[in-house]
Amino acid sequence: MASFKALQACETANGDFETRVVARDTSELPAGDVLIRVRYSSLNYKDALSASGNRGVTRSYPHTPGIDAAGTVVESSVADFSEGDEVIVTGYDLGMNTAGGFGQFIRVPASWIIKRPAGLSLREAMAFGTAGLTAALCVDKLEQAGLEPVAAPILVTGATGGVGSIAVALLSRLGYNVHAVTGKVDQADFLTRLGAKQIVERSALQAGSEKPLLKEQWAGAIDTVGGDILFNVVKSLQRGASVSCCGLTAGTGFQGNVLPFILRGVNLLGVDSVEIPLVVKASMWDKLSVQWKLPNLDDLVQEISLEELPAAIARMLAGKQAGRLLVRLD
Ligand code: NDP
Repeated sequence: MASFKALQACETANGDFETRVVARDTSELPAGDVLIRVRYSSLNYKDALSASGNRGVTRSYPHTPGIDAAGTVVESSVADFSEGDEVIVTGYDLGMNTAGGFGQFIRVPASWIIKRPAGLSLREAMAFGTAGLTAALCVDKLEQAGLEPVAAPILVTGATGGVGSIAVALLSRLGYNVHAVTGKVDQADFLTRLGAKQIVERSALQAGSEKPLLKEQWAGAIDTVGGDILFNVVKSLQRGASVSCCGLTAGTGFQGNVLPFILRGVNLLGVDSVEIPLVVKASMWDKLSVQWKLPNLDDLVQEISLEELPAAIARMLAGKQAGRLLVRLD
């Protein structure tokens, strides 16, 4: 048994939710194969939803969010992991209904754990986190659908967000001509530093949802926001092009008509980074650690402590966060 620090989200008497750093004990963690001392986590949009009482993400409170964790094995009841192994856990139920990476310890099933690839430190792994894994899966799906570096532009929506910023950096690193859609025009320099060749104001992607088709523009796209923006992206893909769809910050619903699909043969590719087989996650981590490693990863990451998380969560929910937040579990 060991006492440790964790961020806890609690429901107040008037039905609001608040987060604070509390002392917990490893004996309170759920049963599981492996106890991990978490060194780094990261803040993702889903964590902000969990921390603010979204029952679609987390059913019962008090709860410690954190869908990402990287750290060192302290105890293991399975042969695959030994004390001292450096490991990464993302997704599955971590931080949803299982106490997550915003605590200094987690206990999880072995089937959720990946050994840290040699080419990434624990800190770098969490600089990517679920956002990086998701961006990598989006790029991978586009390439499996036939995309390769071409002169025509590839669009990334929600570009200053966690998934969006890594998608911009990754596609640029791979030689694509990236156009970045953002609601934060004051972050144009940030996106240009990540490699974006052109900044597109979000309002430009919000217009035209009443039209059945729009001018063919994008050779491919990664959409992290959903809603009318996704609908407009589908309608402005070039013939045979694809969009990877992974997010919902602009809304879960989106309109549709069959014309882009049957007249232009475009593809809408769904991306899930949470429940996919561990072997698929491992193959993406391997890519991110070698051929897709980002030389400018530090440019899109800001490191914060557990105590700084509540303010960061509020910023993220207000749509004001730009880039990734790495959480240090001192
Ligand atoms: P962030 O909050 O970091 O980024 C979201 C970005 O979306 C914002 O930075 C902003 O970028 C843009 N945005 C915010 N509000 C709106 C709005 N109302 N309309 C249009 N754009 C908006 O979130 P993450 O990057 O962590 O996640 C992005 C999405 O992807 C979330 O919906 C998340 O749940 C989902 N996700 C899905 C995964 C999966 O497995 N499918 C895994 C990880 C995330 P800007 O100001 O630049 O436009």
